[in-house]
Amino acid sequence: MANASDSMSLSWRIKERAGFTTVEFAGEIDENTDFLELSGRLTGRVVFHLQQVRRINSCGVREWINFVRDLPNVEELTFSHCSAVIVAQLNMIFNFRGAATLRSFYAPYICDECDIEVEKLLDIETSFPPGGDTEPPEFNCESCGEPLEFDDLPDHYLAFLSEG
Ligand SMILES: [Zn+2]
Repeated sequence: MANASDSMSLSWRIKERAGFTTVEFAGEIDENTDFLELSGRLTGRVVFHLQQVRRINSCGVREWINFVRDLPNVEELTFSHCSAVIVAQLNMIFNFRGAATLRSFYAPYICDECDIEVEKLLDIETSFPPGGDTEPPEFNCESCGEPLEFDDLPDHYLAFLSEG
């Protein structure tokens, strides 16, 4: 576990499932994040659940890249529920994902009528089938029923999808 006295530092919870392991991360990745103990524990098929990763600084990016590059006992790595912070790194740093397959991520939408922001979880296989275009899927506002607008430049936010 990361330092418990600092509520912002990265923590993780490991859950053993049938045939695979999930690791739920929460907090910030920075120079104080030490992945050594975790990397030694991970074996087989592993899914990283990344919804609660709220910030990564440049030192944290370096720690992360070293971590995902050297997981000797992991046979298959998947990133799931990537937060917007993770998506930004996937777009900027080409080896941020290491050997991981990307499963799903959060995307920003807004409703102009209601003036609200909504994060939608997008499953990559369903929303962006291979050979199809990379247009963001359409949703309607749950309050007023009007179409939501994608709240970023799709070509920019979704660039990482074409690097798979
Ligand atoms: Zn609305």
